[in-house]
Amino acid sequence: MAKIENSKIKKCNLCQQEKKLITKSHIIPEFFYREAGVYNEKHYMYKIETQRYLRTGEVSYVPTGEYESEILCEDCDNNRIGELETYGSKVLYGGLSPEKNIKFTNYRNPFDGFEYTIFENVDYKQFKLFLLSLLWRAAISKRKTFKEAQISIKNEEKLRKMIFTRDAGEINNFPIVILSYLRDNAAPTDLIAQPIKSSTIDKDLITMMLAGFVFVFNITNNYKEISEIKDVTITPEGKFTVLHIPKGKTLNFILKYANLK
Ligand SMILES: [Zn+2]
Repeated sequence: MAKIENSKIKKCNLCQQEKKLITKSHIIPEFFYREAGVYNEKHYMYKIETQRYLRTGEVSYVPTGEYESEILCEDCDNNRIGELETYGSKVLYGGLSPEKNIKFTNYRNPFDGFEYTIFENVDYKQFKLFLLSLLWRAAISKRKTFKEAQISIKNEEKLRKMIFTRDAGEINNFPIVILSYLRDNAAPTDLIAQPIKSSTIDKDLITMMLAGFVFVFNITNNYKEISEIKDVTITPEGKFTVLHIPKGKTLNFILKYANLK
C-alpha cells in the first residue's frame, strides 16, 4: 500500500512541488466533449485524426477521454486550472451571470460578407490563461494524439509560469486567434480533432479544433507582426473577435488558415 502511495509522489508539472499526483487529468476539458455531444456515460469519445479525416472522412472512437495520469496535483488540477476552465466555458458557451457583463455584438462585413462577433468586457487574464492552458496541457501530454502540439522546452516553461503566476502577459505573448464553425451547419459540430502544427515564413502556429471553435495559437518567438492580428486576438482591454467561417467552408478554411493547403 505504502509503495503505491509513494509511487504517486512526483513533481507536479504546474506548481513543481513534490506531491501526490492525481490519476486523471483532462488534457481537453470535459465541457468541450459535452458541447460537442460526443460524451456519454461510458466515456466513449470520437477521436478524429485530422490528416486521416481529411483524406478519407473516417472517424475513430476511443474508449476513454483524453486523460493523462500523474501530471498534476489535485490543487493545480481542481483549483488553478479548474477556475480557468469554469471561466473559459462560460465565455465560449454562455452562462456568466449578468453582473459579469460580457458583451458580444454580431457584425457582417458588407464588402466580403464575412460574419464576426466581437466580445468585450472579457477578463483578459482568466480567458487568455484558460486558452493557454489548453495549449500547455496538450504540449506536456505524452499521448500520440497531441504530438503536433509539442513546443520548445523554453516555451513550455514560459507557459507554465504564466499559468502558475496568473500572468497573461502582453498582447504579443502567444497571441491566439479564434474562429468558429458553429454557424456552418454543414460542418461536423462534433469535431474534436488532434492539434495541427504548421509554419509560414514568419510564424509558427498550432491549431486546435474543439466543439465548434478553432483556436489558433501563435507560438512564434518574439512575434513582431502584431498589427496583423491586434484587432482579432484577445487584448488586455478584454476584447477579441471570433470570425465565423462561411457555410460549407469549414475544413478548407481552417486548413488554409493554418497554411496547410
Ligand atoms: Zn501542482
